[in-house]
Amino acid sequence: IFEELKKLEKLKIVSEIAASISHEVRNPLTVTRGFIQLLRESNIPDDKKEMYIRLSLEELDRAEEIITDYLTFAKPSLENVQMLELHDELQYVLKVVSPYATMNSVNIHFKSAPNLFIAGEKQKFHQCLINLAKNAIEAMPQGGDLTVNIEQEEDKAIIRIQDSGVGMTEEQLSRLGTPYYTTKEKGTGLGTMVVFSIIKVMQGEISVNSKVGEGTCFTLVFPIVSNE
Ligand code: ADP
Ligand code: MG
Repeated sequence: IFEELKKLEKLKIVSEIAASISHEVRNPLTVTRGFIQLLRESNIPDDKKEMYIRLSLEELDRAEEIITDYLTFAKPSLENVQMLELHDELQYVLKVVSPYATMNSVNIHFKSAPNLFIAGEKQKFHQCLINLAKNAIEAMPQGGDLTVNIEQEEDKAIIRIQDSGVGMTEEQLSRLGTPYYTTKEKGTGLGTMVVFSIIKVMQGEISVNSKVGEGTCFTLVFPIVSNE
């Protein structure tokens, strides 16, 4: 019966979020539409043109991210489970976020351990780590350090994602991962929800340590699968 209730609750959240997603995606589309209309006009200086195009692309990326996060939350189950080598996957994710880090004066440090395999769906695992890394970078508006660590402890693989950012209060920590919880002007509050649900279906665990003004550390623990 608890399982049934949980499912109903989840369905309710999923449909509520669907409603707000339509709203959230409409904003970037409206903004982009406006820029395209502006581009139609003749004699716009090249630098203005460039700016309209850049902003349009950013807005479209945002719309895409919102949709991807929503779909993953609505359907977190894993379809193409495969062995993921943590060093390679983390390296890939850090490459993806590195332009964003550079733009925000954030230095990335990566301490890795080779040949640790866990089971999961590559794309969803990437999405989970990208959401965590982006949040870390966004928590450092003045720049700072993003440190990613991979370690083995007995039969577990441990990933630590640490930032030197603004940190969170107890109250903020307790709201983390609940729908719509965001402190950002253009935030959605979907990112950590997706992180939590992906880690759960991967049989992993996540914990957070945070101190206001000092930074935040997310710790992810996954069972190691042998590669034989
Ligand atoms: P969004 O990033 O769109 O706001 P998320 O679900 O990704 O939504 O994050 C929810 C909120 O959790 C953020 O708005 C922020 O307040 C807080 N948060 C998440 N990660 C961090 C972090 N590394 N440092 C400080 N606050 C964080
Ligand atoms: Mg986020």
